[in-house]
Amino acid sequence: MTSILNEAHDFSVHELYLNVINPPPPIGDPLNNLAVQIAPGALHDSAERCDAPKCHPETRVAVQGEIYSWIVHGDSDPAQKMVKIKWVTGPAGTGKSAIMGSVADTCKRDGVPAVTFFFSASASPDRRRKTAFIPTLAYQLAEHLPALKDPVAQAIRDKPLLFTKNLRVQMEALILTPLRQVAVESKQPGVVLVNGVDECEVEQYVGSQASPRAGESIERTKDEDQLEILEVLREAALDPAFPFRIVIASRPERVFREFFSNEGHKSSFAPPLILDEKYKPNADIALFLKAKFSEIRRRYNLGPSWPSPEILATLLNQASGQFIYAATIIRYITTSRHGSPHALLDQVLKVKPSSGTNPFSHLDAFYIHILQSAPSPTLAVKWLWSIKGEIPKTPYYRLFHPMSTVPPAFLVNLLLQTDDGDAEYVLGDLHSLINIPPSDNLVTPYRPYHKSLYDFLSSEDHCGPIYVGYMQCTEFLWGRFFDICMHKGLPACRPLDQQKFLRFFFDLAMPGIPRLPSRLNFAPSSVDWWASGCVSHSEDGIRSMFYDVHLECLWYRCSPTCKLWRNSILRHCKKADWEVPSQMWLLRNRFDKFLDADNVLRSTQGKYR
Ligand SMILES: [Zn+2]
Repeated sequence: MTSILNEAHDFSVHELYLNVINPPPPIGDPLNNLAVQIAPGALHDSAERCDAPKCHPETRVAVQGEIYSWIVHGDSDPAQKMVKIKWVTGPAGTGKSAIMGSVADTCKRDGVPAVTFFFSASASPDRRRKTAFIPTLAYQLAEHLPALKDPVAQAIRDKPLLFTKNLRVQMEALILTPLRQVAVESKQPGVVLVNGVDECEVEQYVGSQASPRAGESIERTKDEDQLEILEVLREAALDPAFPFRIVIASRPERVFREFFSNEGHKSSFAPPLILDEKYKPNADIALFLKAKFSEIRRRYNLGPSWPSPEILATLLNQASGQFIYAATIIRYITTSRHGSPHALLDQVLKVKPSSGTNPFSHLDAFYIHILQSAPSPTLAVKWLWSIKGEIPKTPYYRLFHPMSTVPPAFLVNLLLQTDDGDAEYVLGDLHSLINIPPSDNLVTPYRPYHKSLYDFLSSEDHCGPIYVGYMQCTEFLWGRFFDICMHKGLPACRPLDQQKFLRFFFDLAMPGIPRLPSRLNFAPSSVDWWASGCVSHSEDGIRSMFYDVHLECLWYRCSPTCKLWRNSILRHCKKADWEVPSQMWLLRNRFDKFLDADNVLRSTQGKYR
């Protein structure tokens, strides 16, 4: 691997599920340990972000210029010269990610060192959590200031458990202490760009449990994790050894508003940049629409008068300052199979919100229109939730193994479709909402274009007729799980695909369900097939099921479902020489359902992964 990729730079080898950022340090080097802790996809120029939004040329010029000028020259107010943190904020769809991506590009072009972390709620797990945050920053800093490599390596040698510590300890050991040891003259000014901190989720489900147990109090909230990130950045900025300015972009959620307006540390922040009317979003959206319509005219050989200035004005008005609206209608007109650009634009103009005049009402109405153009809108919504591995109104639930990467679309298709070609049937009309890889692509995951889609799908008020709730999503997933267990896999699938699929399937954490509908009456042979497969694939999958099936049982009697699953699980675990819970533990478990099975049900061979 190292021999053929020695000079490798900024590319990814998807077939191997590896992202190679740079030639890895020699084996035995602690920097190797650092390299495996980072979130490669979070870097602004990663392969994972290759289709991330960027500002259209000549748009958002003023706002990009203001951020860039602050990075290079600091604040124009002399009293603020030493301040090293700036917050960029604006509501959903105002183009924050595109602006931050374009600023990162400008820094790269002009040779300004830029260290980046782009959080994303719909990307790989390491971009949704804080775990990889400090290692990723430290790794890039050491790239910019090679003199840091030795002190960073020393820190990792000195503290083998460093990567399990809180962010403050990691920041101190991996970044601040090494910076203090490096000669000042080698420190070029640069910037740390942190985008989408509001999309960072709480670190709750790391470990064997896919979700916190019912009845157990949630110890941390995502606000606390986001606050920890903000605090650690503020402390770094205050440290004289830290040479970079920091730009943080997020939605104006409460935790950010309170943090940046806190009287106690307000003086350490530059005035926030709020993406409001001052930056004339309408002028930029108009530029964007004109450029895109001109591309469409060229592609379809249309006359220059289409669309008319009046129509452009209507679209602009309906966008209410949101780039995401303009970007979505353009994607709709260029990807929909339901007519010519003329006809599609007419459809767009006919879509009117049924009620409400909030800034999102046109975007909501348009999302409804797109989803209703699918042959089965509610099935499409169930797919959209499953693709994200989530369920409405269940913030801590994750279908996919928390440590694995986002699964390729082809595996999700094998899980969700009842027949070949279902994916195209269900999602074929949704190309303006989600990036859908071609069916012969075995590595690329689905990528929803914008977080606002799931904000919309979560709200019954916004979705109206196409809302799909917790129970419908849960039953849908269990229905597929049932079919796959009943057929003992995917009989029609090629053996190699089947192998990949089963590895993915046994790692799934099925949502807890109070009562399965009677049509999902699992036969003992189906359960045995699952238990024996799971024993050889996924310790976590087994424990999660062992725990979940018992949750609804009465203290004096287990439900037939629980008996069936637990007996089968225990039988297969014993056969494979696993440690199994003692009779005493099982008795205690009757009265205390929330007992932790992690230490009493485990493979004696150690972890499989
Ligand atoms: Zn039970």
